[in-house]
Amino acid sequence: MSPRRNTPRRRGARQDQRRAPFPGVVGNQQRESGSDGDWVVRRVSGAAATKTYRCPGCGQDIRPSTPHVVAWRAEGSSDDRRHWHSSCWEKREHRGVRFPRR
Ligand SMILES: [Zn+2]
Repeated sequence: MSPRRNTPRRRGARQDQRRAPFPGVVGNQQRESGSDGDWVVRRVSGAAATKTYRCPGCGQDIRPSTPHVVAWRAEGSSDDRRHWHSSCWEKREHRGVRFPRR
């Protein structure tokens, strides 16, 4: 019997995604890790934004046709995705925005 060799490869995989030369091949999605955990982030173009969403960062509406980001927990289900203004998403680390828990 050989000992188990279950080398975790998550870190490497994340690096690969970030460095993908063609962002399109990973579906325009990337993993981001912050102080509040790991997230999957997808950029939504203005053309693809057809509804109004509430941004959890500033509490304001994201109007249709506004390019923004969708983020959800890497470990959770994608049902729990949230729509953010791009700038709010980038600022959330600095402002210490807490992802609301259910
Ligand atoms: Zn916002």
